[in-house]
Amino acid sequence: MGVKILNNLCICCSNCIDECPVEAIVDDMDNPVSNEAYYVYEDKCVECVGYNSKPACAMACPSNGCIVWNEEGVHPKRKKNEQVIG
Ligand code: SF4
Ligand code: SF4
Repeated sequence: MGVKILNNLCICCSNCIDECPVEAIVDDMDNPVSNEAYYVYEDKCVECVGYNSKPACAMACPSNGCIVWNEEGVHPKRKKNEQVIG
């Protein structure tokens, strides 16, 4: 469950971080795996269910294709690394 940020497409603009209702996103300085992109903690992300009709982070992200589903989810059409907002 959740979304992830693709390192090579994140431009560290910070648009997403304040949009997350559950504080699942950290900036590049706090990214545990790379200091070149923002990062989503999978165990915290709730896919905005109960908060927004679509993932707010992806709605706010200006980099096309940067935020994707991190695994096949409950929706049968969802595929790994599919772009959240297209
Ligand atoms: S999908 Fe929603 S809950 Fe998950 S990281 Fe993005 S804004 Fe946060
Ligand atoms: S909005 Fe997109 S490009 Fe900007 S920091 Fe978040 S993931 Fe990176």
